[in-house]
Amino acid sequence: MDSLLEGKRMEAYAEHRTEDMNHCHLCERIAYKKLRGKEVGQKWICIDCLKKLKEILDTLDEWEEEVAMGEEMKDQLDENLGL
Ligand SMILES: [Zn+2]
Repeated sequence: MDSLLEGKRMEAYAEHRTEDMNHCHLCERIAYKKLRGKEVGQKWICIDCLKKLKEILDTLDEWEEEVAMGEEMKDQLDENLGL
């Protein structure tokens, strides 16, 4: 465990009560109430990571097309190899 990070966590603990704290499951950041975030499933995720996720989700259609295209090419390859 990184001692600097551990120190920061202890600091954070001392400054705020645990109920005011959230722990982002993506970037491992300790966040207080003033930092916005959302619970996704059982995991709390900070606003910065949510923004990144949104960017990913916004391009998901594009990505899915790419994946589908990749799958088609793979099927084609398998067919070619089968012949
Ligand atoms: Zn985060």
